[in-house]
Amino acid sequence: MSTVLRKEFSNLEFDPDELRARYKAERDKRIRPEGNAQYVNVSGEFAHFIDDPYVEPGFSREPLTDEIDIVIIGGGFGGLLAGARFREAGLANVRIIEAGGDFGGTWYWNRYPGAQCDIESYCYLPLLEELGYMPKEKYSYAPEIFEHAQRIAKSFDLYDDVCFQTKVTDLTWDEDAAQWIVSTDRDDVMRARFVVMATGPLNRPKLPAIPGLEDFEGHTFHTSRWDYDYTGGDHTGNLDKLGDKRIAMIGTGATTIQSLPYVGAHAEHLYLFQRTPSSVDLRGNSPTDLEWAETLEPGWQRERRQNFNDMLIGRPVEKDLVNDGWTDIFRNLRRLMPRGDEPAVSMEEAMALAELADFNKMNSVRARVDNDVADDETAEMLKPWYRQFCKRPTFNDEYLPTFNRPNVTLVDTSDSQGVERITQNGIVANGVEYEVDCIIYATGFEVGTPYTRRAGYEITGQNGQKLSDYWEDGLKTLHGFSAHGFPNCFQLGLGQNGFSVNLTAMLDDQAQHVAYIISEVMARGASYSQPTVAGEAEWVATIRGLAVMSTSFFEACTPGYYNNEGRVGERGGLFTESYAPGNNAFNTLLAEWRKTGEMAGLELN
Ligand code: NDP
Repeated sequence: MSTVLRKEFSNLEFDPDELRARYKAERDKRIRPEGNAQYVNVSGEFAHFIDDPYVEPGFSREPLTDEIDIVIIGGGFGGLLAGARFREAGLANVRIIEAGGDFGGTWYWNRYPGAQCDIESYCYLPLLEELGYMPKEKYSYAPEIFEHAQRIAKSFDLYDDVCFQTKVTDLTWDEDAAQWIVSTDRDDVMRARFVVMATGPLNRPKLPAIPGLEDFEGHTFHTSRWDYDYTGGDHTGNLDKLGDKRIAMIGTGATTIQSLPYVGAHAEHLYLFQRTPSSVDLRGNSPTDLEWAETLEPGWQRERRQNFNDMLIGRPVEKDLVNDGWTDIFRNLRRLMPRGDEPAVSMEEAMALAELADFNKMNSVRARVDNDVADDETAEMLKPWYRQFCKRPTFNDEYLPTFNRPNVTLVDTSDSQGVERITQNGIVANGVEYEVDCIIYATGFEVGTPYTRRAGYEITGQNGQKLSDYWEDGLKTLHGFSAHGFPNCFQLGLGQNGFSVNLTAMLDDQAQHVAYIISEVMARGASYSQPTVAGEAEWVATIRGLAVMSTSFFEACTPGYYNNEGRVGERGGLFTESYAPGNNAFNTLLAEWRKTGEMAGLELN
């Protein structure tokens, strides 16, 4: 053991081996053999869970059968940024198809009380400099973000050609015409030269396949379709219809962390059914300092986003510009690393120090629970026993104190791997039936299921090849954007590209890259581009070769959508297929790729 390590590991107030053993035991008891199959497909008798509550019923329009240069599927930030960057690149003939009644994606659907972005707004809200907009607070609430989505659409004239309340049902490539045939649930059969799929990483709500799910006779809804007619109130709370209601919430992810305080404040009684507690760190929101905003120089947003990305991958930066709960662990890590003329550490030692910084962080998260929750038994149940980035960290200052309310009960279901059963009258957990009037499913969104299932349509490329078959044994792409045999078809989002937890920044760079490829295909007089077999294979090997460290990290994690419910080897988790050197390195790689002008790994026909 080096001097640095010996120094850091002496005088610890905890036993790392004990923590490791506790983490492992907590993980092992939660692993379910069914993996993603523990969730039902929200269709058929459950389809009403995903109906759009924000539009008037009865919308209709004439089907479209025209030709368009570029169809973008999805009007969330991915689709909006594609639209904006395509406009900037002079690509005028663009149509967006969106299932909802407006732009906004996640922020269109998720309107639950307290919905807020956990990523600093100065990094998260895109195109701030281009649009001259400064967010009101360090962490924006959902309505401001939704409004910003609409601002982007207006500024780049994206409302001019958009099909709202329209779901794509099929994409089929016509080789002779070199076009995609885009079919929708509005009987459209459009033809597009290019298709850009921006359907989002967490777009399809999921329900746990709990026995008796269909038996409950009270009211139910999923948090991504919050039913204000039932609860009363709005995003700011005042849920005044809940005063005589016994409410159950299932799930304790970021959505519940933000919404539970509002339900707890109004329900006659609230039962929260928890399987794995979230790590709940300090929120510390504050209004934007306008004097600080005045000092910002052009290019500040990109610089800030890059700084944030660097912090999150542990790369040294001069100053932590964002300086919040996301970057905290890496600030701690830097304090542990050798300085000045202290000898450098090996990779193994660096990993040991990273684990130590993580233990320190999670110890402080657990201490926060003791500090905020009066009842010891409840506090114990709320403590997370895993490394910080095993699950998505959350940030909130009202969640934990809500458990001090006499009308709020936490029910731990970890020993039975979740809620046991749903009955006509309520929920059974640990052998006890809890009678309730309403069950709110805060059970998240599909991640590990096939791409085509989450997108909601099949994609049939050259020679009748289906994308679901082509990707059956794992993703195969060039840079995450396109697959061999699926010409002029691009996907934005996660998968074999450079992940950033700041999704909008990631999507913006992706949009600019796709704008470049489409412009080049047009400028070079080609009909289409697609990855070569060799180019694609090389990129897949690069991604998997670099993923070794993240694979072992996620294998040791408690199950969840970050690690494909514990089945890391099957490559369905959110990050198990991302470019390990990080988003900034990925963007540099793409910029260099564009600079050569060679379109390496792509063939143009
Ligand atoms: P999550 O997927 O994070 O949480 C789902 C919850 O349901 C988990 O606590 C899970 O437990 C629980 N669950 C599933 N099945 C059962 C069962 N059978 N019995 C009991 N509990 C069960 O969903 P969220 O909607 O909270 O969040 C989804 C994502 O959306 C976040 O991770 C985040 O990325 C994003 N988000 C972002 C926000 C932002 O600030 N930008 C705000 C809100 C959400 P277990 O953990 O044991 O699987």
